[in-house]
Amino acid sequence: MARRLRELHFEYDASSLARLICTDRSGDDLKEMRKWQCIVCGWIYDEAEGYEEEDIAPGTAWENVPEDFVCPECGVSKEDFEMIEVG
Ligand SMILES: [Zn+2]
Repeated sequence: MARRLRELHFEYDASSLARLICTDRSGDDLKEMRKWQCIVCGWIYDEAEGYEEEDIAPGTAWENVPEDFVCPECGVSKEDFEMIEVG
């Protein structure tokens, strides 16, 4: 009986912890979504929207975009993109 109570307590803690992490993460997403612009042609990658043509999900941070990603307009690599202010 005592053991079952401990298990229940643990399950409760785990779920509230998961909720806490989840809340923190969505808060960061809202704050940190950035846009990146190709310095060669001006094409913009919006982290909030991702890029579905390349299977990059909405909300994917630029650093999580595959290193072999290239600009869909002019074909340059990630190194030729610069972060721009979100207006
Ligand atoms: Zn480009």
